[in-house]
Amino acid sequence: MSLTILKFGGTSVGSIKKISNVAKLIKKHYTKKNKLIIVSSAMSGVTNDLIKKSKQISKNFDKFEYDVLLSSGEQIACALLSGALLDIGLKSRSWLSWQVPIITYGDNKSSRIVSINKKEILNYINSGGIPIVTGFQGISNKKRLTTLGRGGSDATAISIAKFFNADNCIIYTDVDGVYTTDPKLTKKAKKIDKISYEEILEMASLGAKVMAPSSVQDAMINDIDINIKSTFTNNDGTKIYNNQSKFNKNPITGIAFTKNESKITLLGVVDRPGVAASIFKPLADNQINVDMVIQNISANTGLTDITFTIMRDEVKNCVKILKDNKKISYKKIIHDDNVSKVSIVGAGMITTPGITYRMFQALAKKKINIMVISTSEIKISVLISQKNIKKAIQILHKEFDLD
Ligand code: ADP
Ligand code: ASP
Ligand code: MG
Repeated sequence: MSLTILKFGGTSVGSIKKISNVAKLIKKHYTKKNKLIIVSSAMSGVTNDLIKKSKQISKNFDKFEYDVLLSSGEQIACALLSGALLDIGLKSRSWLSWQVPIITYGDNKSSRIVSINKKEILNYINSGGIPIVTGFQGISNKKRLTTLGRGGSDATAISIAKFFNADNCIIYTDVDGVYTTDPKLTKKAKKIDKISYEEILEMASLGAKVMAPSSVQDAMINDIDINIKSTFTNNDGTKIYNNQSKFNKNPITGIAFTKNESKITLLGVVDRPGVAASIFKPLADNQINVDMVIQNISANTGLTDITFTIMRDEVKNCVKILKDNKKISYKKIIHDDNVSKVSIVGAGMITTPGITYRMFQALAKKKINIMVISTSEIKISVLISQKNIKKAIQILHKEFDLD
């Protein structure tokens, strides 16, 4: 007997017709020898709509109620999907996270799964049933509903694969797999057949939303092989392996980008030891994640400029915290919301010299100005003006032979 986890994203269950089609796809996977556990996201657009509603009710919508509200989308999709399976003659029922239960820890909005009770679900699959489990939600040890962060149904699927020791985990989505860059942005994007965890983790963290970063991290730690496929085609997908990418002779595997960051600059900061820590500690205390940082070398004035990037929806909060911070002194705060981060990712970068130069040169040729740079072993990110994003991706895609 083998066990396969199938996860369906929002677009895959985006309408009644699509849910009926997903039921047929599940039927194809189901045999006496292959047991299934299904994880579903909310129908596409539902979670966004719920977030909008919470904002309409209150500027400071209660964080516990926020999770109760947002997790409701998954309940609807799972009930409909289970109903669709029953309708075509299969045995099925839905499980909400608290019924399993799926126990989480950590902050609301971004909890992590710590344990999953297997008993009932195992009994059910052994009796020939197909359980449909809500993605994205869990329950804390204080019995409050929690959610796993945007795109968190991926994390549910990976955790279920881990706790149930599944043989396969297929993430069904609206594209054929992981591409060299977002296929919605350029037709030249190519599907990648195999990719290492390290690379997909960088791609996901840098904005390729095909899989949520925390779920990739979980899969990597627990050595779970993943297959990303399209719900709408029969094509082979992308396999994610626990192996530094040796499959790819190209030093760059893919290009990712974000459109939801802002750049904040503190001008004329008094430059003394500890100043950076004084700036960033209160931001960390308030869960504001700082991404790229650059500090200009001070001239003889003893003053310096510090620029960093954060998520755009944190800007107001961040500026307030900086203004309230009595431990720092500076002349002015400015922020720019029209920025994007473009990143090239590839394990082959480690052994190939000249990648940084080629990236900068290619952007310069198109007169694209680089505002901030950050690098790791297998990625280089640059912050550029948002209006140049398409141009930058097209030129880098070509430069690194991904077209
Ligand atoms: P789901 O609802 O199935 O979870 P998501 O919308 O979260 O789907 O993720 C799939 C989307 O990710 C695709 O429609 C695509 O536009 C986007 N995407 C961004 N970068 C990439 C990439 N490198 N490869 C594939 N898809 C990508
Ligand atoms: N419905 C949730 C979201 O939109 C979780 C998911 O789609 O994975 O973020
Ligand atoms: Mg997703």
